[in-house]
Amino acid sequence: MQLSGVGVSPGRVDGPRVVVAADLPEPASTPTPGDLGAEAGKIGPAAASVAAALSDRARSVSGDARSVLETTAAMASDPALTASAEQLVRDRSLPAPRAVWEAAGEFMTALQAAGGYLAERARDVADVRDRIVAALLGVAPPGVPELTSPSVLVARDLAPADTAGLDPDLVLALVTAEGGPTSHTAILARALGIPAVVACAGVLELDSPGLAVDGSAGTVSPSDGTVRAPARTPRASWDGVGRLADGHRVKLLANVGSAADAQAAVSAGAEGVGLFRTEFCFLSAASEPTEAEQRAAYAAVLEPFAAKPVVVRTLDAGSDKPLAFLPMGEEPNPALGVRGLRIAFDRPELLDRQLAAIAAAAADTGAELSVMAPMVATAAEAAWFAARARAAGIERVGVMIEIPAAALCAAEILAEVDFVSLGTNDLAQYVFAADRQLGAVAALNDPHQPALLRLVGMVASAGEAAGKPVGVCGEAAADPALAPVLAGLGVTSLSMNAVALAGVGSALRSVDLAACREAAAKAC
Ligand code: PEP
Ligand code: MG
Repeated sequence: MQLSGVGVSPGRVDGPRVVVAADLPEPASTPTPGDLGAEAGKIGPAAASVAAALSDRARSVSGDARSVLETTAAMASDPALTASAEQLVRDRSLPAPRAVWEAAGEFMTALQAAGGYLAERARDVADVRDRIVAALLGVAPPGVPELTSPSVLVARDLAPADTAGLDPDLVLALVTAEGGPTSHTAILARALGIPAVVACAGVLELDSPGLAVDGSAGTVSPSDGTVRAPARTPRASWDGVGRLADGHRVKLLANVGSAADAQAAVSAGAEGVGLFRTEFCFLSAASEPTEAEQRAAYAAVLEPFAAKPVVVRTLDAGSDKPLAFLPMGEEPNPALGVRGLRIAFDRPELLDRQLAAIAAAAADTGAELSVMAPMVATAAEAAWFAARARAAGIERVGVMIEIPAAALCAAEILAEVDFVSLGTNDLAQYVFAADRQLGAVAALNDPHQPALLRLVGMVASAGEAAGKPVGVCGEAAADPALAPVLAGLGVTSLSMNAVALAGVGSALRSVDLAACREAAAKAC
């Protein structure tokens, strides 16, 4: 039996199946009818078993992983947590799982109120809470299990923070039942070079020992779980200069979110950075990083790009990239809500601190800085952002075009800024009214769609008229079949994951501008 999903990161691999357990539901608070002493007595042994399992795992690893596990084990055996949970059973007749849930909740509230480093520990308490509750309920603890050998990871969906923490040496492939091709989980899997298939309905129901995954074809089949090494496709080669057969230049840049991405981009020959997703530096931060912390984090990413162009994007938090230190509250439609630049409108100091840190990091590293804002809807918003960026001493300022309204008013927006960059992932989601995280509408989130390409062409023409660059930094830029079409539409740079550079670079070399224009006209 073979299942089909959407292949989002290439590579073929076979290995044992490991399922990411679903989130625990909040335990019921119905009073326990039984012996309260016996109910309370279950908590200590459950906590001790969690602590022992964590200590065992800590002994099997080294470095940071070891100290994290040791700290979590110490929290699990903290007598204050068990004592207060036991008290809740006795005082309020709560079942043991609910008592642990509430006792941990009180600890977390206190830590969050203390702020700073202590607030970050609240997440660890939640982890310990879930483990003890799962032990009491006799179910697997939620979240990505600690892998000890190479495995194929299967999940309903994964948060970007979980995906960013995956170890490519241990995660042979990633398969999710939900999720779309331009979701941030898919983008991160590609950046890590982990073969991945999303929107694979039925994968959670498979119970074979292993899975064979083809991240290019988007297929998943049951297997006996024997590890088979990925068949690597030979890398196309290019010389690090983006140009067509007739010499017409289309700069090839990299999308990065970490120092490791930046190193990979340099090794792959990127001419610079076309999109630095700064929010990826802080996916697990519980409080706003200080200006000094931001400066250091950005400098670590920009460091390999001395004297090269880099486009740093200000925080694009919200929607599917929640940042703990920027809680947005409940929104019925988060993708249409307060995300990207919108967060800064009533918190301009947040943006100013980030702009100062970005400018300082560029000065530290010698990178040729441009900044851009995500999720800009109008020329007035572009002007507002440009004024603040210029006040921070940044000369080259641009915005993303990823909202249809911005594409339609590209000329007015270009009058306010020095360049624009098309975010085709969001632009497609908003043009087709198709959630980029939802497998069921994945076919609409396809950048080959004429409606999307016509908008790209409109923006590129506005750029040409204004004499200003128009790049593409959405996943469309990483598609070697689409790159000539984008060049033919008038796009001046393409920014993509490092692994895509050589393929796109060599595809562009095989065609001249006239052929690209013809292809663009046909595609539209
Ligand atoms: C996009 O929307 O195309 C884009 C590049 O931004 P992100 O994927 O981070 O939303
Ligand atoms: Mg976007």
